[in-house]
Amino acid sequence: MAEIGPLEKEIRRRIAAAGPMPVDEYMGLCLADPEHGYYTTRDPLGARGDFITAPEISQMFGELIGLWMTAVWKKMGEPANIRIIELGPGRGTLMKDALRAAEVAPAFRNAVVVHLVEISPALKAQQEETLEHLVIPVYWHPSLNDVPEGPAIIIANEFFDALPIKQAVKSEDGWHERQIGIGDDGKFVFTVVPAPLQHFDRLLPPAPRAAPRESIFEWRSDSVAMDLGRRVARGGAALVIDYGHAASAVGETLQAVGQHAYADPLSAPGNIDLTAHVDFQPLLRAMEAMGGTAYGPIEQSLLLRRLGIETRAATLKSKATRAVAAGIDAALARLTGHGRTGMGSLFKAAAIAHPSVGTPPGFESGPAA
Ligand code: SAH
Repeated sequence: MAEIGPLEKEIRRRIAAAGPMPVDEYMGLCLADPEHGYYTTRDPLGARGDFITAPEISQMFGELIGLWMTAVWKKMGEPANIRIIELGPGRGTLMKDALRAAEVAPAFRNAVVVHLVEISPALKAQQEETLEHLVIPVYWHPSLNDVPEGPAIIIANEFFDALPIKQAVKSEDGWHERQIGIGDDGKFVFTVVPAPLQHFDRLLPPAPRAAPRESIFEWRSDSVAMDLGRRVARGGAALVIDYGHAASAVGETLQAVGQHAYADPLSAPGNIDLTAHVDFQPLLRAMEAMGGTAYGPIEQSLLLRRLGIETRAATLKSKATRAVAAGIDAALARLTGHGRTGMGSLFKAAAIAHPSVGTPPGFESGPAA
């Protein structure tokens, strides 16, 4: 067996002491353990890291979001002070590109104070470096609840997929919560709690309720979505972009990635990325429950096209060498494409806005049904 890392030792100790561990506890420790978590100990992004995200693929992504923020601020009546909050800002690339694009609206730039919500000291250091030359004030917070009150525009790209999920497996006598234990061979294995989850069926939408035996259902705590909705209910709007599904469905999406390749989610805890698809249905419901109006989800490709990615690409290409122009085309295809390597339809965008803001840019076809 490969050498056991410090986080694996700790998880084994906890399982030995308290029995099998729920999936959300395992995922939470793997990603966010203050000492040994995947995010807390490294910068995993970029071509040389474990995975790449839309803002790292092309500056166009952050720029269009900067224009989105500017347009929302105008719809809010151009307040003299506006908080721009980003959840899980990674390397700070999206924010840097967004604020550069917002230079077209100096009054907006002058109104902005940036609040970054980040648990990772390693990524915070990277964000400080990326945003070093900004003249705009930037503050860091460990959670959304620590950001001071006030009208806000909130962005979350590939944030919710990193929040821990729970899993349940359907069997003859109902749904059983999935856990992680230690198998006969000494390795981590999935097990289930012997007693079924009480009244679980009643909480499920009809499709997963009717699923066959052995189906897996995943869900996350609503707490961050509700905090986000609560803020927007006092003014502003939020944009959530992530990979996932528009309607709740069964299916296991927990996945692990290390060095741009899929890995076993129960291997190398703390050293590989763990994510699970975002179920936009409960996410929007939780945000909307606090008083805002929800829009979408729509496909990322549609949002980016409506925000003008094709025009932006053409402008950048007109000033570029042939090699750079080919890179811009490749980035455009990656961000909006529908094939296996495209993010265009796997990724979805949803927004929530205070009723006074009206429809956020890109969501013009109307509120979510
Ligand atoms: N939005 C960035 C990074 C996505 S990776 C991009 O698109 O490139 C996920 C980000 O969320 C990282 O910055 C990670 O450190 C942060 N993160 C993960 N769990 C978090 C939590 N519970 N609270 C705050 N930040 C978290």
